[in-house]
Amino acid sequence: MKIHEYQAKNLLKEYKIPIPKGSVARDVHESLKIWDDMTGIPVVVKAQVHSGGRGKAGGVRVINSREELKDYASSLIGSIIYTEQTGGDGKPVDCILIEEALDIKKELYLGFTIDRSHACISMIASAEGGVEIEKVALASPDRVVVQNIDPLLGLRDFQVIRTLLKTGMHIKIVRKIGAIANALYKLFIEKDCSLAEINPLVITEKDEIVALDAKINFDDNALFRHPDIASLRDYNQENPLEVEATRYNLNYIKLKGNVGCMVNGAGLAMATMDLIKFVGAEPANFLDVGGGATSKMIEEGLKILVSDRDVKVILINIFGGILRCDTLATGVVEAAQHLNIHMPIIIRLEGTNVEEGRRILAGSNLKFTVARDMGEAAEKVAEALRIRG
Ligand code: GDP
Ligand code: MN
Repeated sequence: MKIHEYQAKNLLKEYKIPIPKGSVARDVHESLKIWDDMTGIPVVVKAQVHSGGRGKAGGVRVINSREELKDYASSLIGSIIYTEQTGGDGKPVDCILIEEALDIKKELYLGFTIDRSHACISMIASAEGGVEIEKVALASPDRVVVQNIDPLLGLRDFQVIRTLLKTGMHIKIVRKIGAIANALYKLFIEKDCSLAEINPLVITEKDEIVALDAKINFDDNALFRHPDIASLRDYNQENPLEVEATRYNLNYIKLKGNVGCMVNGAGLAMATMDLIKFVGAEPANFLDVGGGATSKMIEEGLKILVSDRDVKVILINIFGGILRCDTLATGVVEAAQHLNIHMPIIIRLEGTNVEEGRRILAGSNLKFTVARDMGEAAEKVAEALRIRG
């Protein structure tokens, strides 16, 4: 789960990591009130969306007058912002963060994330933080220093100091940044994060160290331990179809292609997506209805696929184990009757009660193409796409 920058900064504050003074506004009136309270200082206005890259997309601006704030706040609040990370749908700006502007001497990077290949948390630091960190990481990877952390030993002081010195940070600031690194690691562990990143962590002209931006993501499977964090969830920032899917316990992730897939089991779903790509098509989603899906869940899953405007063909690939093929067939037939589906549906069924499942499909007088195996199913998908152009 993701949260907004201002929410992440509240957490940093809880862990004694310095953040700029500021408040959140949901309309122009609130924005001007914050300006009046802050009197006489330039402020930074920042769009609050679940995405990085806001600076480059025009979502972060230094503001010097009340008039300028009024104009910018009214253009930003209620708009949609498109960053390198949001893709074509963008993210709605429902609120903005207004903070004192700082005089920046240097922008650093500090973060913790999970390194899946080493099965551990790793600390990442760079003396060249800011909006170009991805470019730095690509062009000169040695300037981004990574330290893997032993899960049993935790983050050791010598690792923190060594990592920061390797980035080229001056010895004088290493202790101060080290304290922030330790606090951020503590937060990461205690709140079950999957990412905790400060970019930039700035050194100001007055030599203060302040977290200017923060991005914190959480492990969904641990949210039950953190009701306070779960309550920060902002559904407006999430894909509406993905939100709908979670209501029915469906494992759904929207992707960029046009073949809607419904599969049971994550492994089979991955294999199905591979096959779709193999025949030159692109999956529109990942959808694992799970082992114990009911016909109601099948119907809701199909509804989600149909309401995705990108979907041109639907492929249902089910291996009946706990989910029996007749349950699936019933769900599909009922859904198709309610939904008035106009696109081709290709079904591959195998496993428990397969004959019964096929009989239900055949007797439904709805049009489905039934494939004998996964390979044939993928070919039929490609064929259907060719016919529809
Ligand atoms: P992001 O683009 O979504 O990562 O948004 P950030 O909050 O990181 O802001 C992007 C950039 O805006 C920062 O790297 C800074 O260079 C600049 N910026 C943000 N706040 C301030 C500020 O208070 N003063 C100055 N001078 N620049 C700022
Ligand atoms: Mn940033």
